[in-house]
Amino acid sequence: MSYVKSLRCKECHTDYALGPLTVCDNDFGPLEVAYDYEAMKGKVTRASIEAGPRSLWRYKDLLPIEGEPKAGFNSGFTPLIKADRLAAELGVKELYIKDDSANYPSFSYKDRVVSVALTKAIEFGFDTVGCASTGNLAHSVAAHAAAAGLRAFVMIPDDLEEGKVVGSLVFGPRMVKIKGNYDDVNRLCSQIADKYNWAIVNVNLRPYYTEGAKTHGFEIAEQMGWRLPQHTVSPVAGGTILPKIYKAYKEFITLGLVEDNSPKIYGAQADGCNPVVKALREGQELFHPQKPNTIAKSIAIGNPADGYYVIQDIKESGGWGESASDQEILDAVKLLARTEGIFTEPAGGTTLACTIKLIQSGKIPRDESICVCITGNGLKTVEVMQGQFATSPAINAKMSEFNELVSQLEETHTTPSPRPTPTA
Ligand SMILES: *Cc1c(COP(=O)(O)O)cnc(C)c1O
Ligand SMILES: [Zn+2]
Repeated sequence: MSYVKSLRCKECHTDYALGPLTVCDNDFGPLEVAYDYEAMKGKVTRASIEAGPRSLWRYKDLLPIEGEPKAGFNSGFTPLIKADRLAAELGVKELYIKDDSANYPSFSYKDRVVSVALTKAIEFGFDTVGCASTGNLAHSVAAHAAAAGLRAFVMIPDDLEEGKVVGSLVFGPRMVKIKGNYDDVNRLCSQIADKYNWAIVNVNLRPYYTEGAKTHGFEIAEQMGWRLPQHTVSPVAGGTILPKIYKAYKEFITLGLVEDNSPKIYGAQADGCNPVVKALREGQELFHPQKPNTIAKSIAIGNPADGYYVIQDIKESGGWGESASDQEILDAVKLLARTEGIFTEPAGGTTLACTIKLIQSGKIPRDESICVCITGNGLKTVEVMQGQFATSPAINAKMSEFNELVSQLEETHTTPSPRPTPTA
């Protein structure tokens, strides 16, 4: 039993039957999955969700699939950390980290969107899947396609981090490296999707793919004890996850699963690729595409497909946007690691760095609940951290040399303060 009604144009609200369609014939508006929320009332409840599997499929009733899940049986349901040590450093009262660096099996938020897209690809009868990727999507598509027995084509820019390239290649996809940036890759993929009968997950399956990102928001709400954070900070690349976290919150409010506390949503970008943040600062509805130049490669999308809706949703919610320099990003990666024991990639560093700036500028009040969305894992991008730490030369296995090194290390390292006792 599915509650999906149609694909609906976000602009003119024309309904279309479900299929591998992405844009409206009338106005080229993007199509989005529409559900019958009335029919869900009394059936999709806290209890029905809690009785589901410990994966993103516990929210199956709010996802656009017809039958049973076909991919991602262990994806999602990542930890929500109450980050008290980080909160103390930042001088805020209630801070959470939603940690998709621990997502299964490919350690980024992309396991959510791919689980839904590949299930849909199988339902539609495709035997080949593909993607246009900044790295994490290729990794996730390759892994899930291998497990589902699908042929995979992953299209990536030719300058990606080795961890993401090898991390994808190990699953045996056909990898196409393209000279250029993500926006060049994406443009080519639109043409490929037209010519070949493949499911390019973020191109011709985009309406289904993007719905998977809602599960990041559903989990935040459920794991906070069926409450919404007052302030949520999300990274922005192509503009999928931010509007979908917001949609997830609104769906839970509509279904009466959480109280409406007017949740505000904030977008985080790198200074070297900040089209959405720039538009917000300048009071524009539309962004100007940029040529990305940042270490945060997984969010280096200069012409975000859903950037327009990111701007709309941020404004509607009363949130804001911020961007961070490469050095601020690296410092935030180290801060999160040092305070909470979480190693994120530059995209996560960007989100935290921007959160800090939003707190310092007073846009996010210090005494309200804040959730920071950490979307990727630092072990895939170790090269950006090289040279960030002082290391000592190797010693001989002698106590005298060890004793000398201990006192040196004591001088260069601070002892962490104990974790504060949580209040309330
Ligand atoms: C893809 C990605 C994002 C966000 O991308 P959207 O296209 O805006 O959804 C954020 N962080 C990481 C690590 C990613 O791989
Ligand atoms: Zn339309």
